[in-house]
Amino acid sequence: MRRRIYVFVLFVGLLSGRSLNAQSEQIVQMDTLNVRDVLYHLAGGGGNGLALIDEINGGVILIDSKLPGWGQAVEEVLAQVTDLPVTTIINSHYHPGHAGSNGEFEEVEQIIAHENTRESMLRTGSYREGASGLPTSTFRDRYTLLDDLDRVELYHFGRAHTDGDIVVVFPEKGVAYLGDLFPDKAVPAIDFEYGGSAKDFPATLAKIVSGIDGVTRVITGHGPFPTTYAGRGRRARGADRPWSGFMTWSDLAEYSDFIRELVAEAEEAFGTGQTVGETVAGLTIGDRYVDYDLAAAEAMVTVLFRELASQ
Ligand SMILES: [Zn+2]
Repeated sequence: MRRRIYVFVLFVGLLSGRSLNAQSEQIVQMDTLNVRDVLYHLAGGGGNGLALIDEINGGVILIDSKLPGWGQAVEEVLAQVTDLPVTTIINSHYHPGHAGSNGEFEEVEQIIAHENTRESMLRTGSYREGASGLPTSTFRDRYTLLDDLDRVELYHFGRAHTDGDIVVVFPEKGVAYLGDLFPDKAVPAIDFEYGGSAKDFPATLAKIVSGIDGVTRVITGHGPFPTTYAGRGRRARGADRPWSGFMTWSDLAEYSDFIRELVAEAEEAFGTGQTVGETVAGLTIGDRYVDYDLAAAEAMVTVLFRELASQ
């Protein structure tokens, strides 16, 4: 490319007889300096995931391992960009779409998750003590790994989708992975049996928004799905690109507002004695957040009412 541009410049110069400073020859050439492509988004297999190539320690850090049976597909795609094996896994929470392939990476030395996530994995019966795939390092509020440019910070701010959801932040890259704390622009699923809480969801999101600085790009747990798919929120099964790009910190702040207003509206309806059905039918939140998927509203309101009734 460079050679071709040089030849072109020379040709124009000869033709016009002008110096090489002439306007028509002022070609700005640009080459990528992004020689450090180390953080990747991995779509498909049950949810979003990320991979950080850690050259210093010689391994790949996988953030969410996807559904059971997807380990090999993850390894194959990673082999296109690195020879290094997956040596560390971080799970955003215990659900199979995020932790299902944990035991399928032979060279994994460490699996990191919230302490409640490890408990939940044991409770499901799919994992037992001593078996591969179970978290080896757990934490309660905060955990940090790697240094400098590749630092990874893990935060837990409280109950929401489950009782073990974490935010994975890459501070030097301005990137955060929210898992199912922010699944998409949609009403979230609440796993009440495993500590999830519709009532606490707004406070947990508010703490994330106010407690983390410097993030511009946000990766959600599942979306956003390309608009060519049949409707928002539908799983893009069999699609080539089941992901249409990252969201922003403002999207997360807006999502936090959405959840706060949704829960407040439902709480008010509960206070006036409305049923779940009446509450969902009367929700006005959809008028304010027109591009949000409300399909899970009934399930969320059901959990909320259960929590409010037991107070
Ligand atoms: Zn989940």
